[in-house]
Amino acid sequence: MATRFEAAGYATVPFGTPCDVAVIHGCAITGKAEHSSLYAARQAKRTRADTLVILAGCPAETLGETLRGDTTVDLTIGQVGKFAIPELLHHLHPHRFPAPATSIDADSPPRFDTQRALIKVQDGCDFHCAYCIVPTARGLPQSRPLPEVLHEVKRVTSAGFREVILTGANLGRYEDGPLRLADLVRGVESLPAVERIRLSSLEITTAEEAVIELMSHSTKLCQFLHIPLQSGDDGILAAMGRRYNTDTFRRIVAMAVEKMPFLGLGTDIIVGFPGEDDRAFKNTVQLVRDLPFSNLHVFPYSRRAGTRADTLPGQVQESLKKERLHALVEIGETKRRLFAERFVGRPVSVLIERIDADGTGHGWTGEYLEATVTGASLSRRQIVTMKVEGIDSRKGSGVGVRGREFPEP
Ligand code: SF4
Repeated sequence: MATRFEAAGYATVPFGTPCDVAVIHGCAITGKAEHSSLYAARQAKRTRADTLVILAGCPAETLGETLRGDTTVDLTIGQVGKFAIPELLHHLHPHRFPAPATSIDADSPPRFDTQRALIKVQDGCDFHCAYCIVPTARGLPQSRPLPEVLHEVKRVTSAGFREVILTGANLGRYEDGPLRLADLVRGVESLPAVERIRLSSLEITTAEEAVIELMSHSTKLCQFLHIPLQSGDDGILAAMGRRYNTDTFRRIVAMAVEKMPFLGLGTDIIVGFPGEDDRAFKNTVQLVRDLPFSNLHVFPYSRRAGTRADTLPGQVQESLKKERLHALVEIGETKRRLFAERFVGRPVSVLIERIDADGTGHGWTGEYLEATVTGASLSRRQIVTMKVEGIDSRKGSGVGVRGREFPEP
């Protein structure tokens, strides 16, 4: 969105600076996120009363009625249309917002917060998990045609990006005619300028064997799978409307780990889902202990208006959710440390995200461990092989690996 504005002749300024147009790209995944989006809109209006405030993204879809009569938000723009706001502004207010100075170049390089390029290949979901608003906010699954994705990948690689992350609301539902996710990955892999490919979160029921097989042989696809578990209790999984049970989860993870013994395995867990009693939570703890997770994202269940789970009996006390969250986070940290220790003495590939003044590089391994690299002349976005010499504690990611560029230049 920022790139489009700039191409149209606007200057972008940090949020909170008085401006003509403020765009809040909001989130609606939880009631709290939705509330924060509205709060940001109010802040923008307070900065300058005549700022035109636009709420874009999912809250524009979910808050429709609530916003009727709200004088804070001047315009809501959902998923469709959020990349053509300058044209819309000119259309609505031709005297205040002139026609975009140049024709907006769809090929201008996008901007990311990291040195890895996110490529959205799919949106929407029809799985209707009981706690989730995504199907309402994003609609049915839609995928971008494979040639269009390849075109975007070429655009980001010609802007210097070497790693691309394929993302989607339900990535495993990628579909272009008979082509599926594995075909898409093969297509991206065939582009010579792409050095590394990463998949964002995948539902276990869509983590086809073809994708896992490809990951185990590919020289470009990172050996990292993020597969949301959500609960280790079959009763809770059924209440959540998840499409698998714990046996299926164990079986697919075992198959993946057999093919890739050093696989980075991430997951999401929700604690305190309605009806989660001590026994159900113990089952989750046991499953987490049993499986080789390297990244655990634990969330307390958060009620979300408009979802089935919001009306379920057996809502769990916040204090208990907190207790369960801490217990799992602790287990997750131990598991991450054990995972990182397995790499000591081994070579890993690291994409350099930033360089300190003394030349030390920081980045991520293919298995999604944070890495600190010492090397002669490292540069951002470079992918280097590092021999792991040890592990250390990190703020945020818990633990990381450190070592030297290998072979030394
Ligand atoms: S699969 Fe994911 S996006 Fe789809 S409804 Fe379930 S939680 Fe939401």
